[in-house]
Amino acid sequence: DLGSDVTVDGEESFEGDEDDILGGLNVKTTEEIEVPDRLVDQVIGQDHARDIVKKAAKQRRHVMMIGSPGTGKSMLAKAMSQLLPKEDLQDVLVYHNPDDGNEPKVRTVPAGKGEQIVDAHKEEARKRNQMRSFLMWIIIAIVIGYALFFAGSLLLGILAAGIIYLAFRYGARGSDAMIPNLLVNASGQQTAPFEDATGAHAGALLGDVRHDPFQSGGMETPSHDRVEAGAIHKANKGVLFIDEMNTLDIRSQQKLMTAIQEGEFSITGQSERSSGAMVQTEPVPTDFIMVAAGNLDAMENMHPALRSRIKGYGYEVYMDDTIEDEPEMRRKYARFVAQEVEKDGRLPHFTENAVEEVILEARRRAGRKGHLTLKLRDLGGLVRVAGDIARAEDKEYTTREDVLQAKRRSRSIEQQLADNYIERRKDYELTVSEGSVIGRVNGLAVMGEDSGIVMPVMAEVTPSQGPGEVIATGKLQEIAEEAVQNVSAIIKKFSDEDISEKDIHIQFVQSYEGVEGDSASVTVATAVISALEDVPVEQDVAMTGSLSVRGDVLPVGGVTHKIEAAAKAGIDRVIIPAANEQDVMIEDEYKEQIEIIPVQHLSEVLEVALAGEPEKDSLVDRLKSITGQALERQVGR
Ligand code: ADP
Repeated sequence: DLGSDVTVDGEESFEGDEDDILGGLNVKTTEEIEVPDRLVDQVIGQDHARDIVKKAAKQRRHVMMIGSPGTGKSMLAKAMSQLLPKEDLQDVLVYHNPDDGNEPKVRTVPAGKGEQIVDAHKEEARKRNQMRSFLMWIIIAIVIGYALFFAGSLLLGILAAGIIYLAFRYGARGSDAMIPNLLVNASGQQTAPFEDATGAHAGALLGDVRHDPFQSGGMETPSHDRVEAGAIHKANKGVLFIDEMNTLDIRSQQKLMTAIQEGEFSITGQSERSSGAMVQTEPVPTDFIMVAAGNLDAMENMHPALRSRIKGYGYEVYMDDTIEDEPEMRRKYARFVAQEVEKDGRLPHFTENAVEEVILEARRRAGRKGHLTLKLRDLGGLVRVAGDIARAEDKEYTTREDVLQAKRRSRSIEQQLADNYIERRKDYELTVSEGSVIGRVNGLAVMGEDSGIVMPVMAEVTPSQGPGEVIATGKLQEIAEEAVQNVSAIIKKFSDEDISEKDIHIQFVQSYEGVEGDSASVTVATAVISALEDVPVEQDVAMTGSLSVRGDVLPVGGVTHKIEAAAKAGIDRVIIPAANEQDVMIEDEYKEQIEIIPVQHLSEVLEVALAGEPEKDSLVDRLKSITGQALERQVGR
């Protein structure tokens, strides 16, 4: 059975108390948690993929795994190899071909036999050489005796002896050539092979024949001895795993396809001008199960024939990024910590509190309410950094403080960049978090996947010479135009100002590469309205949200990171779409620092963000009255 069926026992009386982070698991440290021996039993979540792998192993089908990095694709492929029968394993031998030295012969024997055969050949060669050298010394003795006795010359005898010696040596080389090359040695293997050929060059994937600098004259290494197995041959009867298949060059993909189709593939020298290129072996077995992995993009870019080959003769599975947060699952996450500690071998085990902190982080990283992240490679990274911190201090156990420190340390490059950026901006006082300013709004954006930054937006409205234009700096022109378009319908209704006769300048202050701005439309709208109506915006507020033409605030991504960024920048209040409320998983330390204000409509945004009571109130009222109609219409439909 696979890991999903291996339960981690909780307390007898445990009945799903949601407040118990360890899900009723009653341990002081991870030392007390038993880690299953088999890799398959260690896999957490991914039930669907696991079922497929189980089935595919039984039926010997290929598998395509699609999903995010670090969710267990290669782990599952390896687990699959452990499910295959090891009785089928084979050794492969390459022999000298007396008829054609450049076409070595290939023989397959049951695992373990290969070594015996090679040993037998060596023994035979040794005996033969012994016999030969015995013979040689007798002949040399006779010749020297003969030369001394009849010709009376020792010199002549020694000369003749030398020639005989060399002749025998040369002959002995010939008998070495008879020893086969054990190309694939499966003896002593506890499981079917698992070969990871991710990023492999042609030689490593398809096999190679080494170059021989002495191609003739009796000094050469016989060609069969220069043959090297590729991953496709080593994976025979086992699993060949290739991640990011699309990075494999097309020719290699074509050859891989041939190997899959034929179940065997000859080895030849891969570099054209080497002497190895003249050599081509008889076919070598390549009876493996292919596990191709990657994200959706990688799959779409792989050789279509190869893709349909794998798909047509196998299964396609999607990996999950998150899993439902339930007590049983949290107990497994505790076991995950134990697994990672044992896998590393040098880290101190984790205390109960330290494990809890890891699980909280898994919750936070899920970015989805009621879920835990399955990007477990990264979470394992956190475990290792925390353990290393504890180890550096010679602690017996890794504690909660170590995990907290590790979290600060194991931040992604983007996060570090963002931190650095925030620091710098503080130096230049680019982030304003006090007072009120006309046309300036603290927006929030996400950099990379997991870091937020405060990105102020400034708007200025000027009378236009011709038809009004939206002018934005940098790459964010499109976003600015869209945001302005979305608000213009609303503005038209409640404002005396006609924005179609004005130029609207929008500046994303210090925005730069990698900043995504699709969630900036609420920010842009607020800045434009503020500029148009001359009502200042409170600077202790930051905001994020998308906008419909009716003024509804729509959900966006990355709210947790954005809120944390705002808190770090010293902002007191943050406006987010109400629909995103459930995605907020900020760390405790930020909870006291910042007030979160969920909103549904632009009028609520203005109510919070605008300063200057009378002007603001009339503006909000007007907005409510006109969009209220819009809302009614929507409901009435
Ligand atoms: P992928 O191939 O999807 O990029 P890996 O299988 O190489 O990811 O995962 C890297 C490591 O992360 C594994 O060796 C394991 O320690 C941990 N890991 C990833 N996914 C899981 C999982 N579902 N269950 C347990 N551990 C996991």
